[in-house]
Amino acid sequence: MSFAALWESLLPIGRDGPSGGYRRFSWTPEDAACRAWFTRSAAERDLRVLTDNNGNLWAWWDPPGRAPGPAGTGAVVTGSHLDSVPDGGAFDGPLGVVSAFAAVDLLRERGCLPVRPLGIAAFTEEEGARFGVACLGSRLLAGAIDPAAARALADAAGVTLAEAMAAAGHDPDRIGPDDDLLAAVGAYVELHVEQGRALADLGAAVAIGEQIWPHGRWRLDFTGRPDHAGTATLADRRDPMLPFAAAVLAARQAAASHGALATVGKVTAEPGAVNAVSARVSAWLDARGPDEQTLQAVVGQVLAAAREAAAGHGVELAAGPESVTPAVVFDPGLRERLASSLAGQGIEAPVLPTGAGHDAGVLAARVPAAMLFVRNPTGVSHSPAEHAEPADCAAGVRALATVLEDLACR
Ligand SMILES: [Zn+2]
Repeated sequence: MSFAALWESLLPIGRDGPSGGYRRFSWTPEDAACRAWFTRSAAERDLRVLTDNNGNLWAWWDPPGRAPGPAGTGAVVTGSHLDSVPDGGAFDGPLGVVSAFAAVDLLRERGCLPVRPLGIAAFTEEEGARFGVACLGSRLLAGAIDPAAARALADAAGVTLAEAMAAAGHDPDRIGPDDDLLAAVGAYVELHVEQGRALADLGAAVAIGEQIWPHGRWRLDFTGRPDHAGTATLADRRDPMLPFAAAVLAARQAAASHGALATVGKVTAEPGAVNAVSARVSAWLDARGPDEQTLQAVVGQVLAAAREAAAGHGVELAAGPESVTPAVVFDPGLRERLASSLAGQGIEAPVLPTGAGHDAGVLAARVPAAMLFVRNPTGVSHSPAEHAEPADCAAGVRALATVLEDLACR
């Protein structure tokens, strides 16, 4: 089957020896190798490849007898991304791109010909691992981020997006919304490894995405008074670490009591001395919930607990959102269409929400978008342990081909 060969050919690119995880960051040599793999895979299938102004890759299967190009309306696009988080897994992103090529092969085996353009897309910097903004390529395409602000984004070494793109041979002055390209797209269907274990519990190989939970990031700065760990009495201290700790525990409790998720995965302490009371502790809260009301309730509870604890320790607290993304409900009509075409082929596919962001969520603001999820036995993602069984990957390809056949070939 073409899936296995494609998968094997992509697997070595950007794999880090010691961790076994992936480091495929945008506009690096590993990224260039992923792009070359995409171009080669498209060329092997006689698909027409282009890189858009924002560095996203597109491979087009043009309908016979139609003028080439996505300029006809109603193009059907599938795909995902090839970049990774630091030490990420093999499946998050690449599964959707590899499955897209394999689905094209399966459609051809079935003798299907598209009557509207069928595209495969690989969006750049989806994870935001290098420049800090998730779904950067699709955000630029959709006009959801200011191009000048994007150009100025810098990586950990201080290299800006503009500099990195230029070094890779792409003109950063051309980034920004592409309304003509989006206007040609009638539907976007993204297949993705499930980031959770709902399908394992349901005993199904694939699911249809219902919505992406609203989510956001809040920054909390606790400012106390730096002091000597060996001489300052406990009563005299204004230690910002203590209300910070209370806030972390409150986040866990608030999430649990609301059926939501809250995580403090990043924290800095200044000056960071072992033998000193900190001057300042900065923490980032990531919170996600099934609806906006729940999300606000969780965050409100955490911030209230943080404020109370800060006051109790004589510590100043400055807290506020860094980014908040509202819920994305995928196009109900397209979702129904996926459900009925899968049901028509006897493919069981429950409908699931997700707490993870995706390019499909960004694009949903501009084009009808939908998602398919493939079972992940442990639910672990953003880790080398991320996995999908070969049989489930094959089921994903069949489901995607079924959906694409219905949308693009009839
Ligand atoms: Zn992803």
